[in-house]
Amino acid sequence: MPKSCWKGLAMSSTMPEAPKTHPFILEENALAGSKPYRTYNQFLQEKFGCRVYKVSIDAGFTCPNIDGSKGFGGCTFCDETGSSSRTNDLKTPIAEQMQKNIANRRKRYKAQKFIAYFQANTNTYAPVERLKRLYDEALNVDDDVLGLAISTRPDCVTPEILDLIASYQERLPYVSVEYGLQTIHDRSLALVNRCETFADFLQAYEWTQARGLDHCIHVILGMPGETHADMMQTADKLAELKVAGVKIHMLVAMNHTPIAEDYRNGRWTSMDFDTYVNTCVDFIERLHPDCVIHRVAGNGHFKHVVAPSWMASQRQDVMSAIDACFAERGTRQGDACRH
Ligand code: SF4
Repeated sequence: MPKSCWKGLAMSSTMPEAPKTHPFILEENALAGSKPYRTYNQFLQEKFGCRVYKVSIDAGFTCPNIDGSKGFGGCTFCDETGSSSRTNDLKTPIAEQMQKNIANRRKRYKAQKFIAYFQANTNTYAPVERLKRLYDEALNVDDDVLGLAISTRPDCVTPEILDLIASYQERLPYVSVEYGLQTIHDRSLALVNRCETFADFLQAYEWTQARGLDHCIHVILGMPGETHADMMQTADKLAELKVAGVKIHMLVAMNHTPIAEDYRNGRWTSMDFDTYVNTCVDFIERLHPDCVIHRVAGNGHFKHVVAPSWMASQRQDVMSAIDACFAERGTRQGDACRH
């Protein structure tokens, strides 16, 4: 049974008890719905019993892989938006971004509660005191903000930063860190100039788990040089690690990025629609059934997409094609899970 709509905890001074079991364990029959995989919407509905929407924030962060502290120029697929489909004017204060987007979602989707989502670039790339100021600014905007989600690179967190993020669990029922892992294969990470390794992720993941934080791991299908077997190894490893959530992207070449040049020069080929759908289904079948699937298709405005060309006409079809593929196979998430 869905829980009643969450209310009032955000400003509560009462410390919730530390969860005795993993807070994101699949409830009985949670996969019995119409989707063959456990969607983020389903997770939010189960947890809060009402319409909860993420509200994206562009806090003006840069990235250590852009400014030279880890690398120059960024990942080869990163465009000027920091891989976020940035829509906000950077001069707009965080509180104003939140107010505007909350009003929009209330009106358009009848949204009831909100998660402040620090999305653009690397949202832990600042001293702890500044991070606290920025996160607080977003959380203090509206009593209906019940959660905080922070997107970052695995090599850009420290125990101190994760302590700060974990401290918000005392006032919010939902706090999550999103890590751009992309793949477990260091050779692929090097090919896209990621300037970090799988070992960086494992360290960040250990610290994150130690603090009981929810998390979502971003992966990209179709990385340069990756075979189907390589991608399945990433799925198997995520299942073995029992990650709480996964966001699946396809590698998309946006205008004015190095990967778009690679595409034009024939050094990289994008996945066709059917290959992406089938690979995505193979991937989800291998994930643990408890894992929440936050997304199954890439973002980025199709007007700026160089490849794959089908993004312009078939992007909206990806989810239904994935459902149809599961139905045709008679499978669902976790059926090929080895862990
Ligand atoms: S880590 Fe993210 S923000 Fe930084 S360069 Fe790569 S994609 Fe862009």
